[in-house]
Amino acid sequence: MKYRSTSGTVPEVSLEEAVVKGLAPDRGLYMPERIPELPKEFFDRIPSMSLPEIASEVAYALFGEDVDAGRLNELTQDAMNFPIPLVKVKDNVYSLELFHGPTLAFKDVGARFMARLLGYFNRDNTDRMVNVLVATSGDTGSAVANGFLGVEGVRVFVLYPKGKVSPIQEVQFTTLGQNIEALEIDGTFDDCQALVKRAFLDDELNGKMMLTSANSINVARFLPQMFYYFYAWAQLADLGVDMDEVVMCVPSGNFGNITAGLIAKRMGLPIKRFIAANNANDIFYRYLQSGEYNPRPSVQTIANAMDVGDPSNFARVLNLYGNDHDAITAEIGGCTYSDEQIAETVKDALETTGYQLDPHGAVAYRALEEYLKPGETGVFLETAHPAKFKDTVEGITGKEIEIPERLAAFMRGKKQTVALPADFDAFKSYLLSR
Ligand SMILES: *Cc1c(COP(=O)(O)O)cnc(C)c1O
Repeated sequence: MKYRSTSGTVPEVSLEEAVVKGLAPDRGLYMPERIPELPKEFFDRIPSMSLPEIASEVAYALFGEDVDAGRLNELTQDAMNFPIPLVKVKDNVYSLELFHGPTLAFKDVGARFMARLLGYFNRDNTDRMVNVLVATSGDTGSAVANGFLGVEGVRVFVLYPKGKVSPIQEVQFTTLGQNIEALEIDGTFDDCQALVKRAFLDDELNGKMMLTSANSINVARFLPQMFYYFYAWAQLADLGVDMDEVVMCVPSGNFGNITAGLIAKRMGLPIKRFIAANNANDIFYRYLQSGEYNPRPSVQTIANAMDVGDPSNFARVLNLYGNDHDAITAEIGGCTYSDEQIAETVKDALETTGYQLDPHGAVAYRALEEYLKPGETGVFLETAHPAKFKDTVEGITGKEIEIPERLAAFMRGKKQTVALPADFDAFKSYLLSR
């Protein structure tokens, strides 16, 4: 399978090149050249299949031409080693809990898969170390660091702004050791990002080290997210709901998660429609209303992993629907909620159903409350564990949230960081010394 750029001005590339490069040279995003359809027989079988089994078959349909079947099966199973249960919240509304992985957020799925695929492509180069550079304001760093932890032939440098990351987030990438190095930069998140961007453009560095990024535009991070749409479907089928009336609602920021769902639908998953749930960063919502896409600087909200003013995967959504606004609005609805509305939803849901939402899941839950039609069954993606936003959530509900053991374990770990100034020459000579 080849991968083409959404901008379409450069030649198609192999899966390996798309994964190693991340972004196409024309600044477009890579898309599979065609989307394989899964046979009806697969959908008949999935209700009795486990998550790793479903993931392996879907992965084979997408990547089977490019990765040895046995190894693909192995790395997919290894990536999908935590449960993703579908939990009933109330009549017709289910939560797909994506937060049972190592860093308690859905990004674990893509990060774990990408790490293993990159390790596979690098398998014959025992003397070639792949260096992953990632700048983080919190969550991406932890998912990427934990996803790549212990993967041979790959080393990860996480750059984060000193004193500007919450302690719960910081421990998730500074206590790991092994092939993970946390670089504490005396500056802002923007400084970290600027250092990473400049490193990718530096000829001397790139001549001496193999550098790659692990951000969410990478096909190996975004495509595996479709595994759990199929698995949600399998779990619903067991419950005897009307399978022609299933609505998936996705709390969206960069739109990688929902785009994976849209592609799952193209592969044959009969989802009736999608809802892209936004916080106050409502660029996509406005696009649905007006047909005009006007990116804006992001505003800060309590669902901060969705604070995105120019969603990077919008290009993929447009591409999937041939830039046809009517086709997009026929399959995807939208909504936007203020912090007050999100907080109200967290509180109400807890009081009326006993279910503890996190602020991101709450945006999607509220959309189902407002837009689910009679006869439909709604599934919202619960993208993070509420304990990751402990202070915010406790402030809303007044009830204490228990910290899961795997989060508590990080908090007992020993912090190991390298302190660096926000200066490119210092960063570069540090990398070259490694
Ligand atoms: C990253 C993130 C999102 C947004 O996902 P996109 O794929 O960028 O749309 C939503 N919720 C949480 C908790 C996240 O970490």
